[in-house]
Amino acid sequence: MNAPAAYTKPLPLIDDLNRPFWAAAKAHELRLPQCGSCGFIRVQFERWCPRCGSRDVRWPRLSGRGHVWSHCTFHRKYFPEFENDLPYNVALVELEEGPRLITNIVGIDRRDIRIGMPVEVSFDDVTETVSLVKFRPVPGPREGDAA
Ligand SMILES: [Zn+2]
Repeated sequence: MNAPAAYTKPLPLIDDLNRPFWAAAKAHELRLPQCGSCGFIRVQFERWCPRCGSRDVRWPRLSGRGHVWSHCTFHRKYFPEFENDLPYNVALVELEEGPRLITNIVGIDRRDIRIGMPVEVSFDDVTETVSLVKFRPVPGPREGDAA
């Protein structure tokens, strides 16, 4: 395997609240904080459950499956580090477990992304310590495909 080129885009600021998420991503697992009291799974990494106020937090492994809830294309250089990627997609994926993650859809031309399209998690190992959570279309039988 070739050594990856140095990653020059912004990296997440990892702290005590989000560390389990990034450690799981590095291990190619999708985990989000879940309230140990009411069961609410959240994408915000605060100390308290926004539904019931409990501080009891678990980090269950999620299925990694979901669907495109919404998406758009960035044509404009909002972030200079992403200029060479223009135009690129930004999507909101609703996980089977309920929460919605802002992400990118990979492995597909952005013009072919559809709302409702089934997707699965895909980890992008951008540095030795950081893997970004992205999603790709779920391969499935299509008309004309061999069984
Ligand atoms: Zn709760």
